[in-house]
Amino acid sequence: MPKYDYDLITIGAGSGGVRASRLSGGYGARVAVVEEDRVGGTCVLRGCIPKKLLIYGAHYAEHLEDAINYGWSVEDATHDWAKLIDNKNTELDRLNGIYLRILRDNNVDILDGRGVLTDPHTVQVGDKSYTAENILVAVGGWPSTPDIPGIEHVISSNEALELRELPKRMVIVGGGYIAVEFAGIFAALGVEVTEVVRADTVLRGFDEDIRVALDDELKKRGINLMSDTVIRSIEKTSDGYTLRCAGNEMIETDLVMYATGRAPNTKGLGLEEAGVTLADNGSIPVDEWNRSSVPHIYAVGDVTDRIQLTPVAIQEGRAVAETLYNDNPIKTDYENVPSAVFSTPPIGTVGLTEDQAREKYGEVDVYISRFKPLVHTLSGRDERTLMKLVVDTKSQRVAGAHMMGMDAPEIIQGVAIALKCGATKAQFDATIGIHPSAAEEFVTMRDKRPEKAE
Ligand code: NDP
Repeated sequence: MPKYDYDLITIGAGSGGVRASRLSGGYGARVAVVEEDRVGGTCVLRGCIPKKLLIYGAHYAEHLEDAINYGWSVEDATHDWAKLIDNKNTELDRLNGIYLRILRDNNVDILDGRGVLTDPHTVQVGDKSYTAENILVAVGGWPSTPDIPGIEHVISSNEALELRELPKRMVIVGGGYIAVEFAGIFAALGVEVTEVVRADTVLRGFDEDIRVALDDELKKRGINLMSDTVIRSIEKTSDGYTLRCAGNEMIETDLVMYATGRAPNTKGLGLEEAGVTLADNGSIPVDEWNRSSVPHIYAVGDVTDRIQLTPVAIQEGRAVAETLYNDNPIKTDYENVPSAVFSTPPIGTVGLTEDQAREKYGEVDVYISRFKPLVHTLSGRDERTLMKLVVDTKSQRVAGAHMMGMDAPEIIQGVAIALKCGATKAQFDATIGIHPSAAEEFVTMRDKRPEKAE
């Protein structure tokens, strides 16, 4: 008789939890995954996938406008938001089915309900208890909002993905990934969007040239970007909401969305009672093997607050399964993790920003290219692409690659491989470009940007 009901119980069936569970099950471990919602987690149900489908939907607005100078007549084009939401939901149902099938095919039991630790080896689900030798916490995060008067009136990205109709005016608070992505979606579909950012502009932490370039493009699209602005309170009025800013400026709107970061979902899980140390923000600190302060309780993904990206959670989940059940110890490598912001236009980035590279290497060579994409020479759209390489002067290795412009996420994925391999600028230059493409700029930038005079 085995000592425990399972070798591994995973709490949370999101990207990291599902990957760890299905691989472990496939390697012959006895695995259960506990989930109180549908299987899929933030990325599939409330994040990357539905968001990107809405972005595709919204971008047709610009494509239709751009088509006119290519000879198309599109006068009667209209958009049905509710249809887009319904079709998106049908796709999510399909994906949910695929996730369930993958788990079942790998002999993973799915325990419906909320999982709570009652001791370091026992998980309670409803009125049943299950024991496991190892436990993996992969419960992700949830939108977090500041505690200001009227905050109960706001929606988060969760509800924004389910709106039945579009408002006329909308305020989006925040300047991070989610805020700029949703600002792009709603503005493209005709909503008057005001984006309120407490910093000097959007995407703090990204390369400064990229931030400035996106700021320009958001404004060109009619987004009212209010920087250095803090909301103090929100009041419901007879026909919408009034937001009072520090400095007493008022904003009237029909809908308020907050995208001010996400907090780990660890409340009431019994983690501290089981001996797991939590950080001040509720996240689970783990070592390089994803072990919490209790060595057989592991954690992966957003709940650990390392890098909040689905592919990172998936890699961490894989590392746990390989290490525990395939005799193949794996650590996740957090160097040069590429990421994309699906803003309009999108951003792709990998490696260090110029400021980070200067901090690390002292001297850097910077190559920048700004141009009108070929497609817009005919369409007439006033959109610029920005591409930038940051090179460590001494070693000549490319330390960072950044792009804002059409297809940036698709282009940067390949560039990320080069950075992972430690490619030098000379190796970029020795690569033949693909013509005509935007991507070729990354291998044809010859002139260093002159250093600014101090
Ligand atoms: P981010 O951390 O990216 O951005 C949060 C934004 O909210 C920042 O602009 C921040 O300002 C601002 N903010 C925080 N607190 C307050 C406050 N009290 N009042 C006003 N503004 C505030 O979080 P998101 O919610 O956009 O996304 C969460 C995470 O999910 C991201 O960090 C990312 O890792 C992931 N994600 C990835 C996506 C992708 O890969 N495409 C898409 C969506 C999400 P400041 O900068 O001044 O702190």
